[in-house]
Amino acid sequence: MKKRFSSLIEIQKEISNGSLILPDLVDYYLSQINMHQNLNAFLEVFEDEARKKSIEIQSKLNAGTAGKLAGMVIALKDNIVYKDHRSSASSKILEGFESLFSATVVERLLAEDAIIIGRTNCDEFAMGASNENSAFGPVLNAQDPSRVPGGSSGGSAVAVQADMCLASLGSDTGGSIRQPAAFTGIYGMYPTYGAISRWGLIAFASSFDQIGPFTSSVSDMALILNVISGVDDHDASMSQNGSLNIQLEPTQKSLKIAYIKDCIEHEGLDPEIKKATLQYLEVLKSKGHTIHEISFPYLDQMVPTYQILTTAEASSNLSRFSGLTYGNRSANAKDLESTFKNTRSEGFGEEVKRRIMLGTFVLTSDFYDAYYTKAQKVRQIIRTETLEILKQYDIIVTPTTSTVAFKIGEKSNNPIAMYLADLFTVQSNLAGIPALSIPYTHHSENGMPIGIQLMGRPFEEELLLSLAQD
Ligand code: GLN
Repeated sequence: MKKRFSSLIEIQKEISNGSLILPDLVDYYLSQINMHQNLNAFLEVFEDEARKKSIEIQSKLNAGTAGKLAGMVIALKDNIVYKDHRSSASSKILEGFESLFSATVVERLLAEDAIIIGRTNCDEFAMGASNENSAFGPVLNAQDPSRVPGGSSGGSAVAVQADMCLASLGSDTGGSIRQPAAFTGIYGMYPTYGAISRWGLIAFASSFDQIGPFTSSVSDMALILNVISGVDDHDASMSQNGSLNIQLEPTQKSLKIAYIKDCIEHEGLDPEIKKATLQYLEVLKSKGHTIHEISFPYLDQMVPTYQILTTAEASSNLSRFSGLTYGNRSANAKDLESTFKNTRSEGFGEEVKRRIMLGTFVLTSDFYDAYYTKAQKVRQIIRTETLEILKQYDIIVTPTTSTVAFKIGEKSNNPIAMYLADLFTVQSNLAGIPALSIPYTHHSENGMPIGIQLMGRPFEEELLLSLAQD
């Protein structure tokens, strides 16, 4: 088996006409993982388990009793828990931790007979934009291993990019699915906030975090979202709207598509990405959609607002890692205070500590109003204004990122430059709206992929995906 499958439809077709069996497919992906070990995408591979499952599910397929995702081999970002399996959020502080339960998304994947092949490397606690913040070393971009794959879900992106599995799950707080999807040339989506249960996702910033898929096709994206979405009593922040029910059909009507002038004209935007975005808009126009230039004058406020609010939430969420309940405890823990201090000092990496300190600072009584309250107000404005635009236009188009995948080490000593990698992606997290990164058909001159972002109204994932498929 040498061929690369780009969708479950293709795989299921070959299985049903007898030219492929699931155990061979799993072996293929395992050999790919083995061959690409240098990319450091996987922290653990569930080899025996995946093989065993492939035999079980093949029998179900033969008997006609298999679930919707039979044939899908999928990887999980290391911050999504799976019962009786380790999860570390790529942090030393969770070394040796095994979960007692599975995330809701994992239960739903398994119930439809997906095969989980392993857990993927990421930035520690999902904080980063390059996957250089993992306690287990950086992930490399398969297209050019001297470059980053983006972050924080870099391992999940590279796993799909290098054909080590058909699809994967990541988490996105400010761009962590879409940015690596753009850097690796695949599809990645931040679903509407409240569409997917966060139960079993190790929390970074709870009012922003969503789990979402990486895929090589629009059809797989739709399928996985349909399976993992929907009300879950374990997550009180969920919308009561029910599951997504995405049906991919050609977009019938002419859509009103807006592009944000302030993004396209931003001085930090790589000219090749600008050109690609404008070309993409021309393609949409040629398909009968109308294109409108709009202004959104909050671009410079978005990353600071995002940073203040997410670090505040992180400082609270990460207080549970104290050496008492989960994972590692420092060998120098003598009493309660030294347990907390030493476990956290030794267990967390530099970026995580920086964010906990910043978040704690903005929540202190002296600075709360100046930073936290103000940022909440700005978030509200951004949300309201974004939804206002979406009353007039069906879809907003921006580049996903302002640069292509950068060199390893290029930004690692410059947190501000790294935070600006999220310039175009944080808007949807601040507003809670769905956003999809699609791979542009042409790569940049140096061969690196370019991503285009489509943002839409809450729960209009179907429209974004239908447009992407046209
Ligand atoms: N790069 C962003 C950050 O560092 C986004 C992270 C994410 O979406 N998890 O916060």
